[in-house]
Amino acid sequence: MPPSLEEGVIYVSMAYGTAIHSCCCGCGEKVVTPLSPTDWKLMFDGENVSLHPSIGNWSFPCQSHYWIKNGSIKWSGKFTKEEIDEVRKRDKYAKSQHYKVADMQENHRPNSNAQPEKIDQNLIITLFRKISRFFQ
Ligand SMILES: [Zn+2]
Repeated sequence: MPPSLEEGVIYVSMAYGTAIHSCCCGCGEKVVTPLSPTDWKLMFDGENVSLHPSIGNWSFPCQSHYWIKNGSIKWSGKFTKEEIDEVRKRDKYAKSQHYKVADMQENHRPNSNAQPEKIDQNLIITLFRKISRFFQ
């Protein structure tokens, strides 16, 4: 990662699967956005960059919230406390869903006798409980 971030530039580390940029409000905070199927997606159309979903910097003093779409910033309203909780909850759910599927595939790969289409319902529930406990 570069020591100082130039404003208006998104730095991408392929090795770490992470993008980083200086907060668009100009406060100078470093905004780190992990890139993964359950985190942010970086799109590059050959000219402009988009990050999805929006950037909600509620842990910074500025609490800015914006979208980076086609290389420009679209400002969004500040999150209320309730909205932040809602997003965090949804995020947690999305991650548990994602990891549930990934874990089951992982469990079935080494055992060639396993029939993925006959997954025991209890296994799914146990896995889900384990995973949701992990994220709490
Ligand atoms: Zn800021």
